[in-house]
Amino acid sequence: MAPKNLSFILEKAGQVKYEDRPIPKLSSPYDVLVNVKRTGICGSDVHYWVHGAIGPFVVKDPMVLGHESSGVIAEVGSAVTTLKPGDRVAMEPGVPCRRCVRCKEGGYNLCPDMKFAATPPYDGTLAKYYVLPEDFCYKLGDNMSLEEGAMVEPLSVAIHVSRQGQIKPGQSVVIFGAGPIGLLCCGVAKALGAKKIIAVDIQEQRLEFAKKYAATGSYISAKVPATENAENIKKEFDLGNGADVAIDASGVEPSIQTGIHVLRSGGTYVQAGNGKPDVVFPIMAMSNKEITTKSSFRYSTGDYQLAVDLLSSGRLSVKELITNQYPFLEAEKAFEETKGGKGVKIIIEGPEE
Ligand SMILES: [Zn+2]
Ligand SMILES: [Zn+2]
Repeated sequence: MAPKNLSFILEKAGQVKYEDRPIPKLSSPYDVLVNVKRTGICGSDVHYWVHGAIGPFVVKDPMVLGHESSGVIAEVGSAVTTLKPGDRVAMEPGVPCRRCVRCKEGGYNLCPDMKFAATPPYDGTLAKYYVLPEDFCYKLGDNMSLEEGAMVEPLSVAIHVSRQGQIKPGQSVVIFGAGPIGLLCCGVAKALGAKKIIAVDIQEQRLEFAKKYAATGSYISAKVPATENAENIKKEFDLGNGADVAIDASGVEPSIQTGIHVLRSGGTYVQAGNGKPDVVFPIMAMSNKEITTKSSFRYSTGDYQLAVDLLSSGRLSVKELITNQYPFLEAEKAFEETKGGKGVKIIIEGPEE
């Protein structure tokens, strides 16, 4: 009877189960125990569920899924000063070593010893309880729901992307892919004061949604050379010599190419999406326009806090991206629905008391 930590576990590709596991123990006086309340499902969770691996990360032992969570503090370690039981928090699910050069220089998302939830061999957050260090839990504003708290994870991804792109007020930004991250990038660009935010996708419905949400314009990719799509976008949205910033949140080769071609000289390109590992890349256009080309991996110092601040101050809204919510015991349905790609973000409730 002792364990009271119901968990949703991936045994191997395509096979999940529920298991009551022991409640995790605090591993340092700076740790807190969080009662997980809401978890959003992400493309990466679905990928593990379907394939049992993402690139070099292979699920060898049963692993708890989920990493986009919010919860309520259940217990705090003796050295914790900023949180108390009952506080509602967004949970940053990757804890770096804090000791290596990457950590010390401030890019802890690049830490080689990162322990990230639901990335093998580390268990995820789709359980009743999860332990985190105090400083990886961010108090939600009183006006924020636990669902919005779960959205802080993908929003932090979009914030990191936008920081890499150094989006400035008044700029024009073209965003490829209108899935959850692309949409959130539109939202962040708007919050940062971008003047033109053009969403590009192949699905009309997604683009309609993007325009209602935060994009100022949208473009359906045509089956023409990337240079032609880029010229069309520049003309249609009056971008002159090109956009200031291009963000690829699709991982699709023609979008990557169009992203480079749609930029002005001196513009910034950010790779946010993952697709084929190797693509044909317009490196001459990149060189001739002296384009700054960057990538973006998860999130780092300040991203989670900014996400919470943007939401609690009302400068950015994510409520409209939550399509559906399932009870914990119907978690697999949330995975199926996310895989189907109909909605934007599907959320699973924590286990019942
Ligand atoms: Zn995610
Ligand atoms: Zn480190």
